[in-house]
Amino acid sequence: MPELPEVEIVVRNLSEMMGPKAVVQEWIFYRADLRMALPKARLNKLAGQKILKIRRRAKFILFELADQVVVSHLGMTGAWREEKTGWKKQKHDHVVLVLSKDRFFVYSDPRRFGFIEIWPAEKLAERFSEYGVEPLDAATDFERLTEQFRRLDAPIKTSLMNQKLVVGIGNIYASEILFAAGVSPLKKCSKVNPGKYELIWEMSRKILSRSIEKGGSTIENYRNSKGEEGAFQNEFSVYGREKEECLICHTPVKQKVMAGRSTYWCPKCQS
Ligand SMILES: [Zn+2]
Repeated sequence: MPELPEVEIVVRNLSEMMGPKAVVQEWIFYRADLRMALPKARLNKLAGQKILKIRRRAKFILFELADQVVVSHLGMTGAWREEKTGWKKQKHDHVVLVLSKDRFFVYSDPRRFGFIEIWPAEKLAERFSEYGVEPLDAATDFERLTEQFRRLDAPIKTSLMNQKLVVGIGNIYASEILFAAGVSPLKKCSKVNPGKYELIWEMSRKILSRSIEKGGSTIENYRNSKGEEGAFQNEFSVYGREKEECLICHTPVKQKVMAGRSTYWCPKCQS
C-alpha cells in the first residue's frame, strides 16, 4: 500500500506533469464506484475550472480548485498516469480526468480500494479533523506528539501506524523507523523512554525523506505517475528480511504479525 513517500511522489509527479495551467475539461467514468461511489455529478460540475495546486495530506492527493477540492486516495494499487490522444483504455482504468483534447490523466486501480471524493474547500479541515500530524511538516509539535504517545498502552509499532496520531507511516516505514531508532516494535508506548521518542521522530523524517529521494518503495506494484518503480526497497534494514542477518549485529531478523500486519525487527539492536 502506498505510504507517505509514495503518495508524495505521485503528488510531485502530477504537479509537474499537469503544470500551472491545468483546466478540468471533463471526466470519463468507466464504472460507478471504486471503494465508494464516485461523485460523478459533482466532479462533472468542475468543468472549466483551473487546478490551482496539487498537494498531499496524510496519504491523500488533493487537487485544489477555486472553491472545491478533489481528494484522491490510492488504496492498495491505485495509480495516476498521463496519456495522449489515441490512448487505449487498459483493463483496470476506471476514471479519466481530461485536461484538453490531448491530455488525459488516467486513474487505474486493479484492486479498487482507492476512492475519489470532492469537498468544498471550507470543509477540508473538517474532512481531515480525525487525522494526526504530518511527520515531515516543520510546524509539527513533536513534543506534544510525544506526550500523546506516552499516555498510550498500545505497542509503539501499531501506534506509529495510527493515522489519528501521526499520518503517512504504514507497515513498511514503521518497521524501518523503529529499527533505526533501536526501539522494539512490541514495546508499549508508555514504556518507551522519552528521549527515544525524539529519535523516533528524527528517524521518521530521515527515512521518509530518504525514501522520497529514492522514488519510494515498490514491493508489489507501486509505480509513480511516470510508470517508474521506486528504489527504497533496496535499502530496507529489516522489512521483508525475516531470518536474514541484521545488517548491524548479524542476529537473524525476527518477524511477527501485529494487528494483522507483518512486523520485522532485530531482537538485539531493538529493545
Ligand atoms: Zn541487530
